Amino acid sequence: MTTELVAEAKEPGGRSESTLKDHILEVLKPTQAQWDDWKWHFRNRFNTVEKLSKVLPLSDMQKKQLQLVSVKYPFSITPYYLSLVRENDPNDPILKQSVPVFEELLHADVGQDDPLEERVDSPVPGLVHRYPDRALLVITDICPLLCRHCTRKREWDGGNWWVRQKPQLELAFEYLRKTKAVRDVIISGGDPLTVDNDGLEWILQQLRDIPHLEMIRFGTRFPVVLPQRIDEGFTRICDKYGPVWLNTHFNHPNEVTPEAGRAVRELLRAGVPVNNQTVLLRGINDSVETQLKLSHALLRNRVRPYYLYHADDVRGTDHLRTPVETGIKIMEGMRGHTSGLGVPVFVVDVPGGGGKIPVLPNYVLSWTENELVLRNYEGLVFRYRNPRPALSGQNGASNGNGNGAHTQSVEKLMDAEPKPERIVLGATRGLSPRLKRRTLKN
Ligand code: SF4
Repeated sequence: MTTELVAEAKEPGGRSESTLKDHILEVLKPTQAQWDDWKWHFRNRFNTVEKLSKVLPLSDMQKKQLQLVSVKYPFSITPYYLSLVRENDPNDPILKQSVPVFEELLHADVGQDDPLEERVDSPVPGLVHRYPDRALLVITDICPLLCRHCTRKREWDGGNWWVRQKPQLELAFEYLRKTKAVRDVIISGGDPLTVDNDGLEWILQQLRDIPHLEMIRFGTRFPVVLPQRIDEGFTRICDKYGPVWLNTHFNHPNEVTPEAGRAVRELLRAGVPVNNQTVLLRGINDSVETQLKLSHALLRNRVRPYYLYHADDVRGTDHLRTPVETGIKIMEGMRGHTSGLGVPVFVVDVPGGGGKIPVLPNYVLSWTENELVLRNYEGLVFRYRNPRPALSGQNGASNGNGNGAHTQSVEKLMDAEPKPERIVLGATRGLSPRLKRRTLKN
């Protein structure tokens, strides 16, 4: 155990509470080189009650419940991610996302196994094709962290983990070659970055050989739960087969650590834009304050907050779901209170294959052909003229609503001499002398 590692341990998310990192270092005794190696973390994941209890104080009752829950819903936590947990805080947001609780079994009759019906939308195993121009390539069901809110929790049952082999993937590539409407493929899992760089390079090569595929994206939580995985080999292949985009999944500001920041910087250097998809989780990030902190931390690291998902209706996750209204209130509390770049789109991914539907606070109070009445973030109400195409002189034609006369007058104005001066002078009427000067100059 090095002093350097202990010092870093006290600052998850740039704060100063003490965390479990000291205990983890004492128990696992990694060298600095091991701590920096993602494969070491992967091999040393906390995935049994016995291992976990060495670093996390658990009562006998908690141990018993953990045993029971993990038969149906196993757990797996990387030493890095567990090291961010604050000591003596049962409500810690990292703890709640990673350590099972008995509620996962208590509400077993609530929710669905496959709410997004991904199996129905799979033309060949491993490929989900729901939207016409996009497809999801599922290459493994293994994840370094088994997030307690996971939509694919159904895949964990039985602990039968798999990585799709080349002959199976060939079927997916064959489908993509034939389906010219697809221009965007998201490589997903599980977590696709559990596959090593050679395996990923082969997949990227196959996809890049399909001429109509414009975009390749990775959907991965590695930058959050094991940022050491973003190594030189991975960024090199992203650069080589680019444009490659990466969507990741930060849920709480405590996850935005210096290590995560380094991973994002490496990706950006390789030309990989990084977007974030947060899941709204009860008791973890269901407040405006936390969401604002998260967005600001992401923007500081040049990650764009992209979606805020309402948590899917998945069996075994009901204790982490909020009412939809919570998400709408968060959107209301963010829009106008921070830069638009920091406001994700709140979406509900509806069961039955309906896809992502944005759900917004209502800013349009009334809407007619000629005018909208709008409310701003402070609740102030404004009228806004709704331009009609013919009034703007589009195509110089009448719109059939009696606006042809106006269009004609625009045409006459354009024919008149001298054209530019008359229009410029008219446009400056009513402006302040300073603005008038500037307009005339331009
Ligand atoms: S990383 Fe994604 S797929 Fe993996 S367990 Fe977490 S939510 Fe599920």
